[in-house]
Amino acid sequence: GRQFFVGGNFKMNGTIKSITDIVHHLNSAPLDPKTEVVIAPPGLFLLLVREHLKSEIEVCSQNVFDKPNGAFTGEISAEQLKDSKVGWALCGHSERRVVLKEQDDFVASKTKAALDGGLGVILCCGETLEQRESNKTIEVVTTQLKAIAEKTKDWTKIVIAYEPVWAIGTGKVATTQQAQEVHAAIRKWLTEEVSKEAAEATRIIYGGSVSEKNCKELAKEGDIDGFLVGGASLKPAFVDIINAQQ
Ligand code: 13P
Repeated sequence: GRQFFVGGNFKMNGTIKSITDIVHHLNSAPLDPKTEVVIAPPGLFLLLVREHLKSEIEVCSQNVFDKPNGAFTGEISAEQLKDSKVGWALCGHSERRVVLKEQDDFVASKTKAALDGGLGVILCCGETLEQRESNKTIEVVTTQLKAIAEKTKDWTKIVIAYEPVWAIGTGKVATTQQAQEVHAAIRKWLTEEVSKEAAEATRIIYGGSVSEKNCKELAKEGDIDGFLVGGASLKPAFVDIINAQQ
């Protein structure tokens, strides 16, 4: 079986005080030991979080650059993250694709650099409302993944996060059927384009308005292996999402 995986993406939220409070809450909360938990605070707080968070929970950068070092103002490399005991990076989040104009090939080279640098990658994909309404969901998602497959053969350290753009921060969660359908299509794509082993082993997690109220239903679906949580990861209820399988 695939280990259940729950990520918390704080996005550009939090202060030293509020993030320290979240860390203390997670340190003392009863967490399902079967769930792999990873949190992604803003880059400024990565070291603070790594220092105070219990070692069972991993820390993830919200961004990573595709070069190991050099004159790249404002960027952080996989080597620097690894050195700081930050074991994961998010790549391809829709906010970076849309707001920061990151293209598929750049997302792919960042993913490759992160993997080469020894990090795990939470690789995000997902369609806009317009793309869904014109029946392009599977095409959009597999095109985003294909860019990665062209640069990376080894998917053992990749977790795929399916995050429909229309469900992010909107309170409009995908139905269990909508999510399961895309997750199953992604798994089929992995079988055909990567390998049967990758399709069986790769965690495909759902993101987009996940809450303590909807997580249990979603977690029952065979191809939903966990969640990438935005807004709710800043709240005490994040613990209930981590424990969705209990
Ligand atoms: P919300 O849970 O706030 O909808 O955000 C989802 C997300 O983008 C996680 O990366």
